[in-house]
Amino acid sequence: MKNKHCKYCGELLETEKEINRGFCDICKERKEAISDVVDRRSINVELKAFDHFAHDGDFIEITEWTNGEGVDLIISEREKEKYIPLTWGQLEALVNVAHKLVIINNYNDDEEE
Ligand SMILES: [Zn+2]
Repeated sequence: MKNKHCKYCGELLETEKEINRGFCDICKERKEAISDVVDRRSINVELKAFDHFAHDGDFIEITEWTNGEGVDLIISEREKEKYIPLTWGQLEALVNVAHKLVIINNYNDDEEE
């Protein structure tokens, strides 16, 4: 029988289980350990840098759905979490209107000075 090698690290596969799977036991463990990070793209930002009402540890996190069709928006405020699932289109609309609102607020601030 022809020797088979792990498709990730190239090591020679030894057991029948490894050969059937196509990769070695070590790579299986690594794959499981990082699967959350790899399968669900996620970005997290401390709120304090943006919001002077924010407390230490408050954050916003956006995590892509596993089906890739949208994101979960999580706003963590004093360890309470607001959870808002959004499709990509909804997120784009939100960013668009939020951007307009920021521009309007900045414009009003300029008027008052
Ligand atoms: Zn391997």
